[in-house]
Amino acid sequence: MRIRDIRATPVTVPLEAPLRHANGCHWGRFVRTIVEVETEDGLVGLGEMGGGGESATAAFEGLKPHLLGRDPARLEEMRFLLANPTASLYNNRTQVAAALEFACLDLLGQRWDVSVSEILGGRLRDRVSFASYLFFRYPHSKTGAGEVRTVDQLVAEAQALKARHGFTTHKLKGGVFPPEYELRCYRALAEALPSDGLRFDPNGAWSVEQAIRFGQQIEDLRNDYLEDPAFGLHALRRVREKVRMPLATNTVVVNFEQLAANVLSTAVDVILLDTTFWGGIRPCVKAAGVCETFQLGVAVHSSGELGIQLATMLHLGAVIPNLTFAADAHYHHLVDDVIAGGRLPYAGGTLAVPTGPGLGVRLDRDKLAAFHQEFRRLGSYPYDRDPLRPGWAPLVPNDRWADPRDERVPEIPT
Ligand SMILES: [Mg+2]
Repeated sequence: MRIRDIRATPVTVPLEAPLRHANGCHWGRFVRTIVEVETEDGLVGLGEMGGGGESATAAFEGLKPHLLGRDPARLEEMRFLLANPTASLYNNRTQVAAALEFACLDLLGQRWDVSVSEILGGRLRDRVSFASYLFFRYPHSKTGAGEVRTVDQLVAEAQALKARHGFTTHKLKGGVFPPEYELRCYRALAEALPSDGLRFDPNGAWSVEQAIRFGQQIEDLRNDYLEDPAFGLHALRRVREKVRMPLATNTVVVNFEQLAANVLSTAVDVILLDTTFWGGIRPCVKAAGVCETFQLGVAVHSSGELGIQLATMLHLGAVIPNLTFAADAHYHHLVDDVIAGGRLPYAGGTLAVPTGPGLGVRLDRDKLAAFHQEFRRLGSYPYDRDPLRPGWAPLVPNDRWADPRDERVPEIPT
C-alpha cells in the first residue's frame, strides 16, 4: 500500500450552546479538521484534528512531498518522520502526527478487514462508559436556549442528560465562576444524583491554596478524582499532600518524559489519555501500559471531537485493561456530525465500539461539504477569549472570575 494523496478539510459543526471554560469559551461551535489519506488502490483512511482551519490545511499540504509514496503501515517510521523528539523543538507536529496515525490505522484496518481495536491487541469490551460532561453554557445567541449558569440550571441539565443518555458519572468543567460558587454547584449535583460518580475540572486555574480549600470541602462526596485543580506537577504534588482523593491530569502528563517524572515523584494518580495530545492511539496504549505497571489510573480524555476522533477514543477504551473510569466526551453537546448515519448513539451511558473495518466510521460527504461551507462562512473562533469579557485574560492562577449573576446573552454569529 502506498499513500497517493492527503486532504485536510476544516469544518464547523454547531454546538447546542456556547461552552464556557477557564480559558474562555467554545463560541457555539467546534472547528475541526478532517484528514483523508488516500492510497494508490483507492482506500481512504480518516483522521481528525482539533481547530486549525486554514493553517491546519496548509500544514498537511506541506507534508505531502514527504508522505506521498510511503507505506501507511510504517507507523513507527512515520512517527519519527513527523515528530522526531529533537526536531520537534523546531516544529511541533504532535497533533498532525496523531491525525495521520488515525488515518493510517483506518487504512490498515480496511485493508486487513479488521477493526483498529483488533490491530491494537484486541478488544476487551464492546462498549465504553462515558461521563456526562457538564459545562457552564451561555444561552444560544439566536434562540436564547441552552444556558447553564445557575445551580438549578446545572442540576436540571445533569438530570436531563442522565435521563436521555443514561450517564452515571458526571464531570463538571469549572474554573469559570468564583470557586465558592462552583463548590455550591458541585455539591448540589452530588445531592441531586446521590448514587452517581462525580469529577471536577477547573483546568488548572486555581492557586495551590485554593485547590486545597476546594478539595478538602468535597472529600465526603463520590469523587472519581479532582482534575487539574492547579497547574503543574509540583503544584499538584502539593495539593495531593493535603487533599484525600485521587488527582488527575490531562495537562501536565501528556508525554513519556512527563509520565516518567510522575512515576518517580508522584503528583497525579490518574492519567487522562488524549489520542490527539499524545500523538495517536498507539502512544496512549503504550502510556496505559506504563500506568498499569506503576498502578496509576487511566481514563480517556476529550479535547473536543467529531465522530472520527470519537472512534479513536472508543478503540483506545476497548483495548486498555486498566480503564476503570468512564471516558469524557464533549460529543453530546454537538447537534450533528460528519460521519455517515449521524451521531453515534449513547445507551446506558455507554457508546458501542465501532465494529466495521478500520475505525469503523465513514464520512457523510454531503455533511462534510456543508460543514466546510459553515467553516468558510463563520471562520475560526478564539478558544481563549470570553465573548462577554473582551479585555479579560485567562491568568494562571486566576482570580478574575465571571459573575454568575450576569444574565447577558453573547452576540455570536450563527
Ligand atoms: Mg481537563
